[in-house]
Amino acid sequence: MKTGYLIDMDGVIYRENHLIPGATDFIQALLATGAPFLFLTNNSAPTPEDLAVRLKHLGIQGVSAKHFYTSALNTADFLSETDPHCTAFVLGEGGLLAALHERKIANDAIHPAYVVVGEGAPTMEKLAKAHEFIERGARLLATNPDNWCPVSSEKTRPGAGATAAFLEASSGRRAYYLGKPNGYMFHQARRKLAMVALTAPEQVVMIGDTMETDIRGAFESGLQSYLVLSGSTQIESVGDYVYQPTRILQNVGELAQEIKTGKPSDRMDSPAFAHAGPHAGRSGVRHQTDIFAFHKPRPRPAMTK
Ligand SMILES: [Mg+2]
Repeated sequence: MKTGYLIDMDGVIYRENHLIPGATDFIQALLATGAPFLFLTNNSAPTPEDLAVRLKHLGIQGVSAKHFYTSALNTADFLSETDPHCTAFVLGEGGLLAALHERKIANDAIHPAYVVVGEGAPTMEKLAKAHEFIERGARLLATNPDNWCPVSSEKTRPGAGATAAFLEASSGRRAYYLGKPNGYMFHQARRKLAMVALTAPEQVVMIGDTMETDIRGAFESGLQSYLVLSGSTQIESVGDYVYQPTRILQNVGELAQEIKTGKPSDRMDSPAFAHAGPHAGRSGVRHQTDIFAFHKPRPRPAMTK
């Protein structure tokens, strides 16, 4: 049975500028056996070419731009499929601008149909401009719901979800969030995986380190999900979630042997529930979709209009 892999990057393959132990073995096993795979990231800032270069500099050979699917590409696919001749005012970086350009979605700073929010550090002036466009009827779209993203083991930065939340608060409109865990991201990734593999894999496994995006999205899209503990999720917090991964691994290196031999290892089924406790790692809601899950939308008070 041919298994295809969708693989998150940060916390799975690398952390900051360091490879996670076993990542090279894992990717070499995929390449050696011809297993179809695609890296799936919510980071909308880099282009697939940027990511391929980054992996090369980290010592991973044999991976090219076709092996990446980012939330920026997902956003460009979404717009070109649902509204092919639309225009957009973009708060974002190179990866997002390039993806929209490739799909012929024009940049528009006069009367855009959409305000598209990606990763980056927009100026107050750009935010005010985006707010104005939304007030005048532009629809608000975010590449991904991440409120914050890890920069190092001790440091985070604001993510696209936080920028979109700013505009939601100022305009009273809700954003639509693409990227993981949105099913459209997984749907498109499966299609792209089938193109890379030249045929649809019989089963697809999502490997990620974040419960709210990687594991939740995979579950909702009917995929198997392997959680790795090399990134943002501690084993103690896994039991806090209503959705659960199919398997839990220390890191992707544990899969290398299994991919090479084709035989599943019994090492993989960690007793997640036995160790799960009530402690969450970081306080604060990480993703905008979780806010939607637990709170009813708050209408904008009429007196502010
Ligand atoms: Mg990650």
